This record gives sequence, C-alpha cells and structure tokens, in this order.
Amino acid sequence: MSSMKIPMSSPDIRADEIQAVTKVMQNPILSMGEMVSGFEAALARLTGSRHGIAVSSGTAGLHICLIAAEVSSDDLVITSPFSFVASANVILYQRGIPVFVDVDERTGNIDPEQAEQAILSLRDDRGADWLPPAFKDSTSIGDIRALLPVHVFGQPAEMQVLSRVAADYGLAVIEDACEAVGAEYNGQPAGSMGDASVFAFYPNKQLTTGEGGLVVTSNDQWEPLLRSLRNQGRDVFDAWLTHSRLGFNYRMDELSAALGLAQLARINDLLGNRAQVAELYSERLKEIPGVAVPEVVPSTTKMSWFVYVIRLDSEVERKRVMRELEAVGIPSRPYFSPIHLQPYYIERFGWREGQFPIAERLGRTSLALPFSGVMSEEQVDYVSDHLARAMQAL
Ligand SMILES: *Cc1c(COP(=O)(O)O)cnc(C)c1O
Repeated sequence: MSSMKIPMSSPDIRADEIQAVTKVMQNPILSMGEMVSGFEAALARLTGSRHGIAVSSGTAGLHICLIAAEVSSDDLVITSPFSFVASANVILYQRGIPVFVDVDERTGNIDPEQAEQAILSLRDDRGADWLPPAFKDSTSIGDIRALLPVHVFGQPAEMQVLSRVAADYGLAVIEDACEAVGAEYNGQPAGSMGDASVFAFYPNKQLTTGEGGLVVTSNDQWEPLLRSLRNQGRDVFDAWLTHSRLGFNYRMDELSAALGLAQLARINDLLGNRAQVAELYSERLKEIPGVAVPEVVPSTTKMSWFVYVIRLDSEVERKRVMRELEAVGIPSRPYFSPIHLQPYYIERFGWREGQFPIAERLGRTSLALPFSGVMSEEQVDYVSDHLARAMQAL
C-alpha cells in the first residue's frame, strides 16, 4: 500500500462560491450588507425561526445569547462537560458558574434526567454536590438561568425532555447547535427548539464562512437585543455613535456571509457527502474487534455528520493507535477532552477526575478520524486498513 498524507478535515468550497466572495469585493459594502441579511434569512428559514443574527463566531453567538438570558455574576447555567471549551467559556465571560451534568453514553449528549436532578437539588438548597467544588460553601450563588445543551458531533440532544424541564423550572434554553447544522430531532430541525440557538462556521464545520457564527431565535424581544449586542450596543434607532448598552464587535463581514449563503444553498449536498463518507467508514470499521463505531440514536431523524469519532477500549490503546496511524500519514485526535478537567477549569473551580465518569471515559477512549465531505473512498480505505492493522498488532 503506497503511503498517503490525509488531512484531518477539509472545507468543501466550489468555484461558484469563490466567485460569490469575489463579487462582494467589487462593491463598496463589505460589512452589514445584503449578504449578511440574506444569510440570516436563509438560515432562519432552514430552522423555521423568525430571526437570524449573523456573528463573528459561534462563541460570540453563545455569549450574546447568555446575555439575553440575563446570566450575570454567580448565576448558574446547566451544561455538559463533554463539549468544545467555548460552550462553557461563554458562561465565564458573564461571570456565571457552569453546573456540569454527565452525558448519555451513546451520544455524548447531556443526560436530561441528571439535568433535572441537578436543578431540583439546587432549588432545594441542598445542591452543593452539583456546584463546582470551589463554590460548595459560597454564600453568593445566584439563580439558575439557563440550560445550555450541546448537540455533540452533529447529533441533537434529548430536547423533548430538556424543553419540558426548562419549562417546569422557568429556564431559558440555549441550543449549542454549532456542530449540528441541518440535523433533525424527531423531525424537528436542530436550532428550532431553544429560545435561541447558535451555529458555527469554522473551516472544519459542515458549512464554513472561514470564521463565523449565526444565532437563530423566534423571540421578538431577544432579536433586537442580540443585534444590538453584536454591534457595539447600538439600537436600530440609535443615532450615529450613540450606544444604548455595553456591546461588542461581533459582526460578520459580507465576504464571509457570501460564502455562507452560497454554501447553504447546497447544504443537502454538503451533508449528503459527509453522510456517505461516514457510512463508508462504518461499513469498513464495524467488524474490527475493539473498535466501536458511532451510534445514531432513533430520535436523531437526521444526522449532520460533523466529525467521525470511534471509541477504543482504553487510553493506552488509543495512544498506541494514534502513533501507528501518524506513522503512515494519518492524523487523529482525542475528542473531546472534558471541560471540567481543563487546566484553567481545575484551577478556578476545583473539579477532579471521577466527577463525571461517562464524559471522562468518552474523553479517554474517543478518537476522531480524518473526516470531510471531500474525502475519497480510497482515502477512507487507507485509513480503515491501517486502523485494522493497528488493532491487530495488539
Ligand atoms: C465549533 C464550536 C463552537 C464555537 O465555534 P467558534 O470556533 O467560536 O465558531 C461552540 N461549541 C461547539 C460545541 C463547537 O463545536
């Protein structure tokens, strides 16, 4: 077998998309123009939402959603430690406190029953077990403001239960749909079930704008607030250089929006190609002893493949497999490394190993293989064959 160099991920950008971006540069409006408003309308339509607000990143989008949900100093937000660090960092930007809840073994998504237990326990004032260790004896804990479920790897979280829990306890729901554009949960689009939902378009995501993100919401009060927060705190009716509140420069530019709009026009293709690559992988890998291929649960009526993540038996095994793959030009990554054990989180909140056993086990054994919609069958075969060999060499 000749040696190949396989990229971890690749954006899928076509000539007409490059042309769409070039065309923007031929007119003077490079920000806050028709491309941004067109992209916002198109993604709002896809999710059946009334409004779309384009932003400079998924992180920026999550941040302004937490401001809309009135998360401030010492307020609690229920979320998952098995995610990209941004979904918890935004809580810290508001000086809030993340309350982590362990995840469903099959999907890596937040466990809704445990989320409810955490809320009940915190409401009953005996919730110290759920608070970060460094805050157990704190006397200044604020209110539980929001639930922030993450649709991990493109598979929607258990939104039916989570929405019921949020309604019962009067919490806002912010969907982190950054990995799940185009996914569906029991027939409902990811991004249509929260008070606001956030998508992200970094180059390894299913749809890219370079850097970028977009918030969708059907809340008519939140919409102008989110627009204002994105644009330095200006209200639509503010005079030039009048700022009604503290805001940010979280705007998306026209070039990025033009790319996003063109990509969105063929979202079914983009997702279809990725699904095909995922299917090929699972075909090739499902019989290899010691390799567990990703599971798509019945509530995921449409999977939006973000990454292709297998599970191995142990961390030692994973290390060895990664090394052997690397030696033949195949990159692979642990995915995710749980947030509560990130050095900064340990330092600030005092979490320890053992507190979220499922997230930690997934963190130790999950391995993302090279994946994109433009991967060839030959490349999938190359990775699969070498993975099979590495597993045999046990
Ligand atoms: C990509 C991602 C984000 C945010 O992405 P940006 O890089 O800020 O655009 C947030 N949460 C999750 C789960 C993500 O995968």
